Amino acid sequence: MTVAILGGGIMGINLGYCLSRQGLQVEIFEASPVLGGLAGPLILEDGVAVDRFYHAILSSDSHLASLCAELGIDNRLRFRETRMGFYHQGQIHSMNNVIEFLRFPPLGWVDRFRLGLTVLYAQFVRDWRRLEGIRVDEWLTHLSGRRTFGSIWRPMLKAKFDGGFEDTPATYIWARLVRTRSTRQGANQKEMAGHLIGGYAALMTAMAERIVSAGGKIHLRAPVQEIVIEHGRARGLRLGDDVQPFDAVAATVQAPIFRRLIPGAGQDYHDYLGQTDYLGIVCPLLVLDRPLTGYWTLNITDERVPFTGVIETTAYIDPQYVGGHHLVYLPKYTAPGSEWQKKSDEEIKAIWLKHLQMMFPDFDPKHVRYLLVHRERYVEPLHGLNATHLIPAVKTPVENLYLATTAQIYPALTNGESVSRHAREAAGIILGDLTPRAHPSIQVSMPVTDSALP
Ligand SMILES: Cc1cc2nc3c(=O)[nH]c(=O)nc-3n(C[C@H](O)[C@H](O)[C@H](O)COP(=O)(O)OP(=O)(O)OC[C@H]3O[C@@H](n4cnc5c(N)ncnc54)[C@H](O)[C@@H]3O)c2cc1C
Repeated sequence: MTVAILGGGIMGINLGYCLSRQGLQVEIFEASPVLGGLAGPLILEDGVAVDRFYHAILSSDSHLASLCAELGIDNRLRFRETRMGFYHQGQIHSMNNVIEFLRFPPLGWVDRFRLGLTVLYAQFVRDWRRLEGIRVDEWLTHLSGRRTFGSIWRPMLKAKFDGGFEDTPATYIWARLVRTRSTRQGANQKEMAGHLIGGYAALMTAMAERIVSAGGKIHLRAPVQEIVIEHGRARGLRLGDDVQPFDAVAATVQAPIFRRLIPGAGQDYHDYLGQTDYLGIVCPLLVLDRPLTGYWTLNITDERVPFTGVIETTAYIDPQYVGGHHLVYLPKYTAPGSEWQKKSDEEIKAIWLKHLQMMFPDFDPKHVRYLLVHRERYVEPLHGLNATHLIPAVKTPVENLYLATTAQIYPALTNGESVSRHAREAAGIILGDLTPRAHPSIQVSMPVTDSALP
């Protein structure tokens, strides 16, 4: 049985790896010249490969850890104790342990207590469905109080959602609080973050090698123009004028891209997929000759600053693994239709440098080795209140056509851990459908996954 997989990001490669292990002949089609998608590498002018976007692996990412062990690359995992902080009213406040938390100057002690309680309370919520219909701002105001919501949560949510977050369910912040806290280890609650030497690219390469040695194929620079559908069944892929037949097709691209590729699917399905949208991102990468903050993550509560945070990945990646550089990412998440996506790279660079200078008066541009702007339109799926019925299932209405995409990961956040888990679950569904006798126990419909938490 031959299966075409569309997309060579974490989802596509994981799916190909899982299906080829079960004896299916897979061929992966990736539009770009490298594997990895959002988690792919970037080659700097000096030839050093770094992550195009920041990618931490958390010490609690157990699925990734066992995948790395299975592939024999777990000796390349490195973890470090990291620090996070807040940039609030022109000052950096460290927020790493109970003492710092209890001293956190932007809040009075009652508000601090309520903020701590919010974080703690989130860890005990087991049934996320209870939070599905509650607005994130209502939930946070109720738990943390109006003042803390106004000075901490509101600016962070505004930055993350590029403005409005009124339709966002409380599950969003709940999943984030659970995941963030899962990195804290030991009695003193040290925060651990890590990476693979060589980045996620090392994981992709290891899986790609297994796929090829099992007889599969990986096609790079292979943009698929259409998933050919005849009489309600997927027949293959069209690349240019060439139609390549397959027994089944699994797409791992985001819903709006998938929708464009299936003109032969029914209008109802098109309309259904059209209801899924995503946050985008504009993300300048500063390559410096020295550290900027020493913090892995600096949350920004100052609404004048256009970027969402300051992410210094060389706080957990030893610079020796990235050519001695110090890597600082300055992401701005963008709502659908955001003006930020329309600004040129030069405009973005000028605005970002101006604000960086405002935040860090000692920052000297002469320490910048490279400044590169990357952007993507479809990054994080947006889930509305009580909207799980809009999450597309892996099995589509078209026979032998499957969709494994980040929009199906909910309420967990989308990251390497949850995407790899989801790919494995999706592979189970596909196998159960295509080879029911070999995989009789596998369910064939799975619109929502919650097994990926934290
Ligand atoms: C700024 C940022 C920070 C992040 N931080 C972290 C982090 O710290 N830790 C973490 O674990 N995760 C992080 N993530 C999330 C992680 O990168 C994504 O969840 C994951 O990479 C999604 O993988 P995917 O395969 O589903 O999608 P994608 O990576 O988007 O893969 C889809 C692939 O399909 C290809 N494609 C599209 N159209 C076609 C076509 N017509 N024909 C052929 N191929 C096509 C694309 O080129 C792409 O390679 C971050 C993401 C971003 C953007």
